[in-house]
Amino acid sequence: MELVYCDQQGQVFNHPSYPPVFREGRNFCTLRKNDKLIKMPFGSFLFSLPGRTPIIVDRGRQNYRPLTHVDRKAALAASAFVSSGYLRTYLPAYHKSNPEAPTLSLWGYSGVAYHRQEFYVPAIRIDDDPRSDPAIHENDALLAKKVKKLTALFPQNRLVRQLAYCSTEYRCLCARNFFLNRYEAPIPTAPDCNSRCLGCLSHQDQEQSGFAASQHRLSFKPTPEEIAEVILYHFEHTTTHVYPVKSGGPIASFGQGCEGEPLTRAKDLARAIRLIRNKSDRGTINLNTNGSLPLMVKEMIDAGLDSIRISMNSITPDYYNRYYRPQAYHYSDVLKSIELALNANIFVSLNLFFLPGFTDCEAEVLSLFNFLEAFPISMIQTRNLNIDPDFYLDRIEFKHSPAIGTITLLQKLRSHFPSLRLGQYNPCKESLSKYS
Ligand code: SF4
Repeated sequence: MELVYCDQQGQVFNHPSYPPVFREGRNFCTLRKNDKLIKMPFGSFLFSLPGRTPIIVDRGRQNYRPLTHVDRKAALAASAFVSSGYLRTYLPAYHKSNPEAPTLSLWGYSGVAYHRQEFYVPAIRIDDDPRSDPAIHENDALLAKKVKKLTALFPQNRLVRQLAYCSTEYRCLCARNFFLNRYEAPIPTAPDCNSRCLGCLSHQDQEQSGFAASQHRLSFKPTPEEIAEVILYHFEHTTTHVYPVKSGGPIASFGQGCEGEPLTRAKDLARAIRLIRNKSDRGTINLNTNGSLPLMVKEMIDAGLDSIRISMNSITPDYYNRYYRPQAYHYSDVLKSIELALNANIFVSLNLFFLPGFTDCEAEVLSLFNFLEAFPISMIQTRNLNIDPDFYLDRIEFKHSPAIGTITLLQKLRSHFPSLRLGQYNPCKESLSKYS
């Protein structure tokens, strides 16, 4: 395997003299004995990292050092962004050679290597469900036809117009699936949020953070009737036998990247759920949330919510609070929501943001295992944290703790908690019974 680097114009090169170097937390490293590189999955991207030079090491040695120039031209570090369904296991290794270098924008930066004319990445396929595989989203013409049909069918429905915008302007794969009558439909409903996450995709104070939000925050509040209309259409028109495999039933999920916190609209969402369940018991109604308002979680469960996914960057309260910056709620409220959902016997997932070297450091692993002993949730959705690793570790004031490796962490989770599901996507209720 060979090192990958870029020139100042962003052109990508391999360097046959040096092996690839990676990073866990703040530490440079090479691959652990049992860890593997895989061919870069279809739909992944490559980035050059501004103001950052690649790190090199002589084969078989630990003398890590920056590679500032190649053939007298300045070299930049390279990184990959792996496509959905894959969990990255190492970060790219680089040295911030320019102290003025900009904070990196919101992507999940992964290491990258080169071998026999192919790019390789330190990642594993963690969920086989194809719903967000870029390969099944190469259909803009079909999508345009479907968007035209549905916006004509629901001319008054602002949510349909929002999803039309998301599926075309943002290429949101979930919104595309709504128009293509398959898998999981995103149901954004909340302009407001009671967190101020460092890595929020829909709201950033760029002066403070140094990078922009990836998408505009929703600016209106769909009514329960607009919400129910979209979800009922999705549940009634979604086919379960779509390319390439049987997908199970349709899913509709509150809590998307383009909105705030859905629990801030729980009373309206509960009303929407009742409108839907009065007409149909088909499909899975799921809530992606920060879990901040337990009483509102109860309101939605009582209305008929099928499953809940609660997002956290860490189980450690200090790291959680420094990332989420809660407004008028506490870390303990999130635990109350999880407990409440478990007691209501609905399917509970933890959407855990993974950063190699942090999530798998000994201190975090201990916190996570204690949490899983106390809260027997059904699934961990292993989410690549999309953020500049240095910015993140600085802002949460990460105290070094040795990394055990992402692959080792997954192996330990599987052996200690055999009924715990690991993946990246919300399951449909048809598949839930297997897990309760
Ligand atoms: S909970 Fe979601 S919407 Fe709210 S700040 Fe965090 S990422 Fe943004």
